[in-house]
Amino acid sequence: MAHIRHIEDDTGDLVDLVYFCSDSCNQDWHPDGIVVKGVEPYGGWYGCQEVEYDVECAGCGDIIEGYDADRPDPGEVADWRLLRGE
Ligand SMILES: [Zn+2]
Repeated sequence: MAHIRHIEDDTGDLVDLVYFCSDSCNQDWHPDGIVVKGVEPYGGWYGCQEVEYDVECAGCGDIIEGYDADRPDPGEVADWRLLRGE
């Protein structure tokens, strides 16, 4: 189960998701107030979300198990590193 934050484009459309393993990882992400374009700030508990494939927690790097772990590599997870210019 994942905790999720949304990434929106200039028009407010949802374009990507950032996944966390826990609410504390979600809260601690951007602890220095780093503003990343389109990434919503922590807005309260938004957890217990099913993910289809394994994804990496943006906070601590732990793997959040998807419910369909038997399928091949999903290939694409929310690439928040690109947004931060890393
Ligand atoms: Zn985490």
